[in-house]
Amino acid sequence: MVNDPISALRVAPGKPFSLADRSTDATLGWEKDAAKAELENVKLRLDVLQQRLFAEERRSVLLVLQAMDAAGKDGTIRNMLAGLNPAGFHVAAFGVPGGPETQHDFLWRVHSKVPPKGTVGVFNRSHYEDVLVVRVKGFAPKSVWSKRYDHIRDFERLLGDEGTTVVKCFLNVSKDVQRERLQERVDDPEKRWKFRHGDLDDRRLWTKFQAAYQDAIQRTTTAKAPWYVVPADRNWVRNLAVAKILLRHLEKLDPQLPNPEDGIEGTLVE
Ligand code: AMP
Ligand code: MG
Repeated sequence: MVNDPISALRVAPGKPFSLADRSTDATLGWEKDAAKAELENVKLRLDVLQQRLFAEERRSVLLVLQAMDAAGKDGTIRNMLAGLNPAGFHVAAFGVPGGPETQHDFLWRVHSKVPPKGTVGVFNRSHYEDVLVVRVKGFAPKSVWSKRYDHIRDFERLLGDEGTTVVKCFLNVSKDVQRERLQERVDDPEKRWKFRHGDLDDRRLWTKFQAAYQDAIQRTTTAKAPWYVVPADRNWVRNLAVAKILLRHLEKLDPQLPNPEDGIEGTLVE
């Protein structure tokens, strides 16, 4: 569906879904230079709508980014948010749980980072790690992680009911492109800090991770908190697609500026 490539990325609830059939390298009918220019236009719109959301102060948006290593979560965030009002956006990253995080249920650390009303929050990894890496690496028994899909659905429904729109993107990178990018991290001294030996362990578990993503996406995509599978082999496609997905949901919210106090219009400021 070239007319509406964004809708085509969405994973519809209750329908068959196969992650393996989703593209990693589609251009979505876009061309590189035009897409970069278009991203700037999308960001201008994001800026206006974010400002209104802030003024309205009734609702928030949570954009969840999940992906294998080197799919470009950090790059997406950097490109999408650069130049926008930092006061309106919250970014939270979730790594290996530590300290008190290990002493609470898996949603505890996430809940407190949900964006407050009037703001847009971006999660760089999220509560989904608790049905992904935790499942694949056996950090919790099946009896525990298998119940989490329902808990996640309930949690996201709660957020929706309380004014937070949840939107989830899986940045779908191919195993080949991941290899290139990980190699680049090893070879480039500026990028080497990002590389961990553990990245290779995760890469070896690629098939198991894909299966875990398949299940997580299928079981938790809902009408109110949908998943999108974004082709991530080309950075410029990935960046524009995610920005457009966010824009689409902000447009749907249609945040309204609050009414000014009575009698302001026409007031002369001397
Ligand atoms: P990165 O986002 O690449 O900086 O790495 C963060 C690491 O933390 C990844 O390897 C994740 O799989 C890991 N991680 C995130 N959340 C969890 C979790 N709940 N349990 C175990 N590992 C996690
Ligand atoms: Mg990493």
